[in-house]
Amino acid sequence: MDRFTMSAPLPFATHEVFNQTPPLGNVDLWGGDPALVGGVAAFAAPGNSDVAALAGFGKRWGSAEFFEFGRLANEYPPKLKTHDAKGFRADVVEFHPAYHALMRESVAAGIHCSTWGVDGKLAATGAHVVRAARLYMSAEVEQGHQCPIVMTHAATAALMAEPGLVAEWLPRIRSREYDPSFRPAPEKRGVTLGMGMTEKQGGSDVRANTTRAEPDGDAWRITGHKWFLSAPMCDAFLVLAQAKAGLSCFLLPRFKPDGSPNAMRLVRLKDKLGNHSNASSEVEFEGAYARRCGPEGEGVKTIIQMVQLTRLDCVIGSLGIMRSALMQAIHHVRHRIVFQKKLVDQPLMRAVLADLALEREGSLALGLRLASAFDHSASSPDEAAFARIVTPAAKLLVCKSVPGFVYETLECLGGNGYVEEGPLARLYREAPLNAIWEGSGNIMALDLLRGAARERDGIEQVLTGLAKSLSDLPHASAALDRVKAGFSGVDREVQARRTGETLALLAATAALKASAPAEVAEAFAATRLGGLTARNYGNPLPGALVDRLLERAFAHAA
Ligand SMILES: Cc1cc2nc3c(=O)[nH]c(=O)nc-3n(C[C@H](O)[C@H](O)[C@H](O)COP(=O)(O)OP(=O)(O)OC[C@H]3O[C@@H](n4cnc5c(N)ncnc54)[C@H](O)[C@@H]3O)c2cc1C
Repeated sequence: MDRFTMSAPLPFATHEVFNQTPPLGNVDLWGGDPALVGGVAAFAAPGNSDVAALAGFGKRWGSAEFFEFGRLANEYPPKLKTHDAKGFRADVVEFHPAYHALMRESVAAGIHCSTWGVDGKLAATGAHVVRAARLYMSAEVEQGHQCPIVMTHAATAALMAEPGLVAEWLPRIRSREYDPSFRPAPEKRGVTLGMGMTEKQGGSDVRANTTRAEPDGDAWRITGHKWFLSAPMCDAFLVLAQAKAGLSCFLLPRFKPDGSPNAMRLVRLKDKLGNHSNASSEVEFEGAYARRCGPEGEGVKTIIQMVQLTRLDCVIGSLGIMRSALMQAIHHVRHRIVFQKKLVDQPLMRAVLADLALEREGSLALGLRLASAFDHSASSPDEAAFARIVTPAAKLLVCKSVPGFVYETLECLGGNGYVEEGPLARLYREAPLNAIWEGSGNIMALDLLRGAARERDGIEQVLTGLAKSLSDLPHASAALDRVKAGFSGVDREVQARRTGETLALLAATAALKASAPAEVAEAFAATRLGGLTARNYGNPLPGALVDRLLERAFAHAA
């Protein structure tokens, strides 16, 4: 027995301890998740050699040791050091070794870069799906450290607007070595990138940014602030600032070209509801050195390349949280005896868990299908349209469903679900975040409307494809009609959430049809496309399907 498994029960003078669920121990995040295996098989390109490596990744990340890293990284959150002992500015953040261990593993696995080839093009067909599978499994273990991982991957898309920056930064972005040292990027073996858009007076409305940019030879000087800037120990940040021609995008490194620290001050770290392992800072810039990224005045157009990718990752990260919570709940009910029966054998508990499992299956299939659209965007206009249109809808549906989902799994553990020593409390506090950052729920719904208005052909293609794929499934045709009406009605802004959710549910059903047993897709359509609003989980499903869903959710020895 090692320190990660339960030690032998101690004798108690007052009572015997029994009927408490054993710790989860080592789990196989790949082999134990048949829905994931099926989804990757359906959506990654056949012959993608990286798929085979996912099995090893799932075992490694599913070890009790990695889950313990996740706990420690949150139990001992980062600390800001604004000054050193002599009063000089330091502006550094110190992290627990467990955080660095997770970062090292994610970087080694390439989650921060694996879709980017040497030339900045797609590294391999299916690269987005394979990366999504890794991101998802690592999110089951810990989500906070993924912030710089995800931002590095996504910010690279915005850098593509500036060949000079690509030549300089891409080789170190693509490095698989995690180098947390606080040194100028050219001296480092690997780098991470962050971004600063949000200011005090507005985040969704970035055009309200007041941070200024002034030209200084080939470079720029940035003066102002950012109200949220996560992972401030990254090596450089994409920053939006007002130039003469309007809002523009800049790359602002932590060090100036002469090797001295850049004029970026870390004011304080946010005291957050969750996401404790991740340092989210408030910063000020005072004439900070930066390079322009993309044309002056086109900052939003440039940075949106990044945002599309981070939104996909919000969906994938949310899926990891859902699976982690579901796995904990299923593990618990497989052991806990209540009223002389294991909880897993109580019909109502089975109904709740199977409905949760069905929700997770649909969301997972949608996330992987969306990742495959990113894989094929460059070669297929239809897939590019799917990625642009379905991304905000998927983020709206999936990310906003996570708090309710985790709450329901937490309740499966009864009182043990509500205490901080257990894993569910952390997942519950983490749950709302993916819906907030990178565009909150309403912004996603409005973005979808804007996209549909701009890309009439694209939306037509997406809806025609869904109609073809779902013609034999219950409620699909009526749901499609509701989406079409939602795009054209005079009250479309008020309807936008319903329109987006329904579109995402339709896309999820189609994705299930392509990747899961037919009965799973049928049950998802029957329980989710009818427009009925069941307020809680527990849709009754046929017994054989319940068995199958629970096994697909966590195929772990009972
Ligand atoms: C932990 C954490 C880390 C973060 N890290 C970063 C970071 O690294 N870099 C960064 O730039 N930002 C970061 N953010 C900021 C985040 O992206 C913003 O908080 C988010 O985009 C929302 O902006 P806001 O807070 O200004 O809210 P607001 O823009 O004021 O919006 C408030 C609410 O109004 C809704 N809303 C806005 N416009 C409309 C409308 N027209 N109609 C209807 N509803 C509307 C929004 O959906 C939202 O629900 C982080 C946030 C958190 C919580």
